[in-house]
Parts: sequence; structure tokens; C-alpha cells
Amino acid sequence: MTNHDVPQGGFAEAGADLELVGLTKRFPGFTAVEGLDLTIPAGSFFALLGPSGCGKTTTLRLIAGLEEPTAGRILIGGKDVTTTKAYQRPVNTVFQSYALFPHMSILDNVAFGLKRRAIKNAENLAHEALRLVELDHVGGRKPTQLSGGQQQRVALARAIVNRPALLLLDEPLGALDLKLRRQMQIELKDIQSDVGLTFLHVTHDQEEAMTMADTVAVMNKGRIEQMGPPQELYELPRTSFVAKFLGQSNLFSGEVTSVSRTAMVIDASGTKIEVPLARAQRHTGHVTVGVRPEKVSLHVAAPEASAGRNVMGPGRITDVSFSGVSTQYEVTMPVFGALTVFAQNTSISSMHRDGDEVWLSWAVDHAFGLADDTDGASPRFDADFDTSMIAVQSRKNLEAELEGA
Ligand code: ATP
Repeated sequence: MTNHDVPQGGFAEAGADLELVGLTKRFPGFTAVEGLDLTIPAGSFFALLGPSGCGKTTTLRLIAGLEEPTAGRILIGGKDVTTTKAYQRPVNTVFQSYALFPHMSILDNVAFGLKRRAIKNAENLAHEALRLVELDHVGGRKPTQLSGGQQQRVALARAIVNRPALLLLDEPLGALDLKLRRQMQIELKDIQSDVGLTFLHVTHDQEEAMTMADTVAVMNKGRIEQMGPPQELYELPRTSFVAKFLGQSNLFSGEVTSVSRTAMVIDASGTKIEVPLARAQRHTGHVTVGVRPEKVSLHVAAPEASAGRNVMGPGRITDVSFSGVSTQYEVTMPVFGALTVFAQNTSISSMHRDGDEVWLSWAVDHAFGLADDTDGASPRFDADFDTSMIAVQSRKNLEAELEGA
């Protein structure tokens, strides 16, 4: 289907598959996207998640036809569109800046593209799209008479009205405040299920990707590091980048000292950590293993060693952040530095204080082993390494370098 073949009513038609085969984009002296292979099934909500500069927008622009790939192919609904002009692709994009025509009514904004292409029932289709985003009642207003969230919904209606087989969303909620953003995430997901189109959403917000998408692909330096349902990526990250970018992780590295039929044991600076083989990418040599902060329990005395549990300590609580439903503890261990523990606030008496000596334990079944080559790496990585932390980390590294100079 092209943009010219707008169905004469109804939003029930499904979207199309998107397939990228070895998609590569090199700018002079810089590779932004490197051999991307992925298939997005028709009707799914797919999120491309990654830090600033990882190549997300370039990938979107390649799919939309706004950039020419250096190598590789793009197929939409099984049809090769690699050399098809942007306006002939069955694709629409919703950008962060919604760019509505200020002098036109909301209805005219939505109907504009259809009218230009002399689609007969343009106004009816525009009403239908506005009903979908629950804004038909303000069709007569001008864009400035709507809130930011409402304007973004109009931009969505304007894209959906063209019945693209594939809708590209480039950080579409980035300009909204946090509360509205969270509300729009749920609404956008509902709209996608209603219309059944294929949505490809680009974002650097991990919570947004996990809340909305059926499948999340974590992108790093022009490549996809891991792809799968959000829960799978969270519970079983394969690389330290994914473990740190998607949520927080406590990571440790050491030599594998023994392997049984079901689990392996590593020696991390003298502490034994057991990991199920099925949850570990590598089973020999120097490896990195980890556990999510909410899987870790705090103890005021050394817990008895028991099968199926990893125990670590003692350490000292060096920071406590109370956030109502849970408390985040920073526990500093002499050899591992600061670790993070999230505890549910189910009882007042279980609160620990800054300075308390504590031990940590977690079920072996919650540990995961990463694929990274950690030779020469420090015994522990930083617990949190999301986008904001990358900036903080670089600044700290720079300060340390300057101090050392
Ligand atoms: P952000 O979230 O900040 O938008 P992104 O993941 O979308 O980041 P891209 O915009 O795809 O990243 O850029 C990927 C890399 O390619 C960046 O390092 C960027 O500087 C580089 N790049 C993008 N466009 C060009 C260009 N026209 N010429 C040279 N380099 C470019």
C-alpha cells in the first residue's frame, strides 16, 4: 500500500512487517548504523532504545527514506523499498516537535494531507482519526488552544489518518512533562492496539520502552546488543551495557572456579558467587555476573550459608533514599565498592540506617552471567549507567584525570 491508497474508512486493517537486512549507514569518518538485521512483525509495537548518539534516529531516517543506506536492504510488507522515494513509502513519522499548522483548525490539520491528495472522504477520515485520539470535540479549535499533550495526539491522528503500514515515532513524547508523558504512553499503546498498525518507537527512555513495547531492541554504537520482550531483557540481560542501561544492576567479575551440571561458581575477589548455567552466557575463564537490586536482601547479621543462595558481606550502608513504596540503599563493600539494594517498605521495623553494618544475600536463580569479555576489567562495574549517569561518569573520569595530571 502507498500513502495514496487510503482505505475509505475503518482502522481495522493491520500494518505490515518491517525487515532490515544488513542495514548500514556510514557518514564521512563515522559509522552510525552497522549491519542491522531485524524483523518487526506486522501489528507489533517495537521500541528501539539506546543512549544519545547510538544511531536510533539514523535508523528511523533510513526506514522513512530520508537517508540513503550505505549497504543493506529495507523491506516493508515483504516489498523491497530500499530505493523507493520517501513519499512513496507506506510510512509516516511522528516527531518530537509536532509542527501543526497554526492558522488551520485541528480538523483541517488532520485532513490536510488527504485533501491535497484529493481523497474524497477526507473530512470523515479526519473525524475518525480525531475520535481515535479522543479529540474530535475540539476539531474546530486552533493548535494554540490545545495543551502540549493534546497537540501531540493531533500529530498522531494526522499520521494515522494516512493509514501507513508502518508508523515511526521519534521520541514523540520528549517535549511533554513527566506526568503527561506517562499518561500518553498508556494512551499511545491503547491506540496502537486499536488500529493494529506496526509502530516503531525510538526512545532513550527505558521506562517508556518497557511500558509500551512488545519487543525492545537495545542499541549501542550502531548495533543491536539485545532484542526481546521487555521482561526477558530485564530479567536476563546478556551484556553489561544492557544490564546497566535497562534498569540498574550490581555486577561482579571473577574467574569461574567450578562448574556443575546446573550451575557455575565464580570467585569475585574472594567471594563465591553461584550462577545457573542456563542464565550464564559464558561458563569458563574470566566472566562478569550480576543481580538486580530488588532481588537482593539485607541482613543485620551474617546469614547462614545455604544451598541456592549467594551471600556477601559485611558491608556498610552509605546512603538511604526513601521513596514511599520502597527504599534504595547504597551498601559499600571494601572490595566491590557501592552496591544498590531496593527494599519494599512492608514494615517500619525493617528500615536500615545510614552507617549500619549489613550482609547481602540473593537467590542463585536470580543471578545472571554476561557475555562481555572482561579481561583486565575492574572487579566491579558501576551500578547505574543510564544516560544521565554516562554524563556524570564521564565528568568524574575527567575530574579524576585532571587531578592526576
Ligand atoms: P539522539 O537520541 O541524541 O538523537 P541517536 O541515537 O538518535 O541520538 P543518531 O542521530 O542516529 O543518534 O546519530 C548517530 C551518530 O551518527 C551520532 O554520533 C551522530 O553524530 C552521527 N551522525 C548523524 N547524522 C550525521 C551526519 N549527517 N553526518 C555525520 N554524522 C552524523
